[in-house]
Amino acid sequence: MINEKSSNETRSVKRIELEFDFVVVGGGIAGVCAAIAAARSGNSVCLVQDRPVLGGNGSSEVRLWMLGATSHMGNNNRWAREGGIIDEILVENTFRNKEGNPVIFDMVLIDKVLSEKNISLFLNTMVYNVIKKDSRNVTAVIAYNSQNETEYIFNGKYFCDASGDGILAYLAGATYRIGAEDNEEFDEKFAPDKDVYGEKLGHTLFFYTKNTPNPVSFIAPEFALTKEFVEKEIYRVKNPNYFNPMAIGCKYWWIEYGGRLDTIHDTEEIKYKLWGVAYGIWDYIKNSGKFPEAETMTLEWVGLFPGKRESRRFVGPYMISQRDVIEQRNHYDAVTFGGWSIDLHPSDGVFSSKNACNQWHSKGIYQIPYRCFITNDLDNVFIAGRLISATHVAFGSTRVMATSAAGGEVIGSAASICIKNNWRSADLMEPEKICILQKELIANGNYIPQLQTLEIESLLSKAKITTTSVLRLSEIPFDGEWKVLSQSAAQMLPVEKGKFPKLTVKVNAVKKTEVEVQLRISSKQFNHTPDTILEIQNIDIKQGKQEIEVKFNSTIPHNCYAFVCFMKNEDIELKFSSYRISGILSVFNKVVPAVSNWGKQTPTEDIGIEEFEFWCPERRPEGQNIAMKISPALAAFETSNLTSAINRPVEKPNIWIADFHDKKAGITLDWTEAVSIHKITLFADTDFDHPMESVQWGHFDNRMPFCVDEILVYDENDNLLANVQKNHRTRIEINLVQEIQTNKLTLQLSNSSEHIPVSLFGLHII
Ligand SMILES: Cc1cc2nc3c(=O)[nH]c(=O)nc-3n(C[C@H](O)[C@H](O)[C@H](O)COP(=O)(O)OP(=O)(O)OC[C@H]3O[C@@H](n4cnc5c(N)ncnc54)[C@H](O)[C@@H]3O)c2cc1C
Repeated sequence: MINEKSSNETRSVKRIELEFDFVVVGGGIAGVCAAIAAARSGNSVCLVQDRPVLGGNGSSEVRLWMLGATSHMGNNNRWAREGGIIDEILVENTFRNKEGNPVIFDMVLIDKVLSEKNISLFLNTMVYNVIKKDSRNVTAVIAYNSQNETEYIFNGKYFCDASGDGILAYLAGATYRIGAEDNEEFDEKFAPDKDVYGEKLGHTLFFYTKNTPNPVSFIAPEFALTKEFVEKEIYRVKNPNYFNPMAIGCKYWWIEYGGRLDTIHDTEEIKYKLWGVAYGIWDYIKNSGKFPEAETMTLEWVGLFPGKRESRRFVGPYMISQRDVIEQRNHYDAVTFGGWSIDLHPSDGVFSSKNACNQWHSKGIYQIPYRCFITNDLDNVFIAGRLISATHVAFGSTRVMATSAAGGEVIGSAASICIKNNWRSADLMEPEKICILQKELIANGNYIPQLQTLEIESLLSKAKITTTSVLRLSEIPFDGEWKVLSQSAAQMLPVEKGKFPKLTVKVNAVKKTEVEVQLRISSKQFNHTPDTILEIQNIDIKQGKQEIEVKFNSTIPHNCYAFVCFMKNEDIELKFSSYRISGILSVFNKVVPAVSNWGKQTPTEDIGIEEFEFWCPERRPEGQNIAMKISPALAAFETSNLTSAINRPVEKPNIWIADFHDKKAGITLDWTEAVSIHKITLFADTDFDHPMESVQWGHFDNRMPFCVDEILVYDENDNLLANVQKNHRTRIEINLVQEIQTNKLTLQLSNSSEHIPVSLFGLHII
């Protein structure tokens, strides 16, 4: 029993002081990925998060779906899902939680972090102070946990500010900005009119609803906006693009407020206002008499914390800006990429009569330089997530969570390199040093666009590689559905420079007509926007079913994806295929309102944005390929692709694919002399084109159907070294129990998906 006597002195809370290599402030997705990356490199890592769950805006406390360059599959960024740690997290979440339950996503995240033995996780622990040893170096952060009444001093060699508002970099004295730049400063024609549009995005509070068997009444609280006010002043409730009274889940991202206020210090005031709006809208749904269909609906959850979009941005040696995004500019120190639209919102938020967002896409993904992840003022602090060195306009794109997560991994890897070499964060931006980071990121499954020259160390380079078969794509089989050409449809085919192959497709016409077929490519080889028309043909079609030949005379200028576009004609059906092949996609000139894709992007004034069409795939189970014979066969799936450092399709598929019939496909590696091997890493195809929204959206399949699921590895004497079953992961690491000496390795791979050939992007052996 404790029976402590009274004291005339005040007492102190318990105080614990700890030492780490790397301290991460903020357990949003950027902080989580930074912590995991550094921990996996062998550093002791402290992850401090002020809330009881990880994930920040992506957690069950706020419930936003994590997204990045894939942009809900609604723009032309093909195979653009972020790689590395965020890929691992989203693939795992889709595997366990394809329904998108936010609580399960919390579980997946916490499981990932707790399984890293080098991470010490401090939940419910809020950083509120910083100790510096000199003007440029932080030595510790001070935090408090109200649950265990303990104050912590976390000493570290390096720090990452992933706190959203930037508490660490702010207290440490780094230069920051809030609000929008003038358009002259970075030549940003899309920079907003600060008075009319405003210069900050506001916060949002979500609510969740559910249907019940019986009528449910609702009595609004005093602080709710009245239903009359909602009807009169919130014009979005009259717009079906925004408002659906039966929507279940967090669909009302436009309940936004606070962009004209101080989005840090006025947060509590903003929250109360947002509660008023959320309950007011619910009152309007339940009690205005306009929505009898909502009679049995009830509120299941209302957010307790608003999701924050924008506050401080810190200034680094480079500020990424609009032209970097739109022109897809090259940077020597590119370390990751973005691809969400530039997505700005009127600062008046829910009370604005303007569109709730103003989204403009670039023609493909763009590089983000390392210089955006450090500050000019601090030598041992990195900045992550929505804090990075970006202008307000570029931030409109870089701020999304999968982009932030990939940046988090950059920081964790960069910190490890700095710790090892005793470098300042800025030392790593030197041209001869940055490639160390770039190589490490690529080796860990990340993608850096337009950076193709880096060779990753692997015993593969010394091996003779043979495979049991290689797909020569002479036919996408004619076994699928007939589909009306109600929207223009294109088959993307990886073709070589020179003559375009002859195609034969099947059509069924209700009457005599003609079909317009266009051959298109992208103006930039690495993009997938079909903005260059090489040739147009009009082919006569008679009534009924028939085969037609498509023979283009144009020459393909370089190896790239070509788009064979069958333009809309509702009198025609095209034959599709049930066969899916890695790196082969059909796309449609379609509308995806979720990302402001109306089929074509057409800026009405000169805002420095390009005009182009959107050609996007359908999600599974739709999205079959257009069936066709191809002559000569496409030969883009060679064994040599296994040695490429690019593990996704870009200007070519970059993948080895076995023949359709070779369902137990094999790879043999022969070395002239025995080599020592301790680790084999395989990169499988988990469909980088699939957005994998973390919550709410829901997905058709939990396991990506292209992914190899059984892997058997044998040595030169046919001893089984590894047996991987039921794989669903992109990156399959096989750590051998003991290092082995061998001059031969055989891998047998299979894939239980019928109608999908076995494939593999890459193989590293060390
Ligand atoms: C309504 C809304 C809709 C959006 N839509 C999307 C979308 O569809 N897809 C998408 O990907 N992105 C979307 N975004 C953007 C995205 O959510 C944010 O830009 C992103 O969360 C930024 O990531 P972050 O890790 O920097 O910050 P956060 O996710 O905010 O994470 C920061 C973390 O740090 C913690 N923290 C803060 N202060 C402290 C402290 N003092 N001590 C310890 N911990 C601290 C916070 O609790 C939080 O967990 C949206 C944002 C909003 C608000």
